[in-house]
Amino acid sequence: MTKLRAVGLRILAPLLIVATVTAACSSTGSGDGEKADKPLVATTFTVLADMAQRIGGDRVTVESITRPGADIHEYEPTSGDLKRVAGADLLISNGLGVDDWLSRFLDSSDAAHAVASEGVEPMPIRSGDYEGKPNPHAWMSPIAGRTYLHNIAAALSRVDPEGEREYTERAEEFGAELDALHTRATGVVEALPPAHRTLVTCEGAFSYLARDVGLDELYLWAVNTEAQGTPQQVASLIDEVRERRVPAVFCESTVSDSAMQQVARATGARLAGTLYVDSLSGPEGDVPTYVDLVGHDLDLITEGLSSR
Ligand SMILES: [Zn+2]
Repeated sequence: MTKLRAVGLRILAPLLIVATVTAACSSTGSGDGEKADKPLVATTFTVLADMAQRIGGDRVTVESITRPGADIHEYEPTSGDLKRVAGADLLISNGLGVDDWLSRFLDSSDAAHAVASEGVEPMPIRSGDYEGKPNPHAWMSPIAGRTYLHNIAAALSRVDPEGEREYTERAEEFGAELDALHTRATGVVEALPPAHRTLVTCEGAFSYLARDVGLDELYLWAVNTEAQGTPQQVASLIDEVRERRVPAVFCESTVSDSAMQQVARATGARLAGTLYVDSLSGPEGDVPTYVDLVGHDLDLITEGLSSR
């Protein structure tokens, strides 16, 4: 893996220089004036892009480096990615280890860098190869999501001080929607029979949300970077699902659900649909925005765990 990455870098470095020169030329050209004058903000994945776009509004241009549906944990940036974000004024990553691959962009860029999760108290990964490392999926909790909005508004204000008031106001409006989502989520969980308050997913990506709304969390593998759906993971989850009589299990949009299908078959639990975590859908899909993503997951979880 390390060797492959080193080779990739050697190939990509000259491309980046070409892309930077091209970007510089287009921003001084006469054709594309308005767009080129706006700060270009690049984020590591689509959830952060939606947050930045909504807070930035029409004052900024936002690009997500990874596309909808991508595996963000072990992403290998392409020459196309480097071209798209060459000349970015601000790079926004999640932090907590999920998008350390951004360092390849930072090394060759003058852009400011903001870590959206900064200030969130990390929860540790509870098992597997990465046990004890920070669980990166803090955005799944609307409470932690508020910290993201604050950090993104502050970063945009540093790059574009004249927009500070707008950014702060939009982050505040957005934050009020997250508060409403949190209230709804806690209400949803309180309405479930206590024996049904276990959320079973493929990746252990719901730790922050589960903690903040009062769910127990079970999963096949702790984080998508480790082996997925091993016989041991499947067997141990089958035991727990049987013991707790969990009515419904779930899997996420960016991974295969075949191991969870095995769990469902063996236990009689229903495989109750696709949750979104690491990526938004495309604009025509189920969850084109971050608020849609959390809302969709809550609906699916409620519907699945309410059944008997
Ligand atoms: Zn993940």
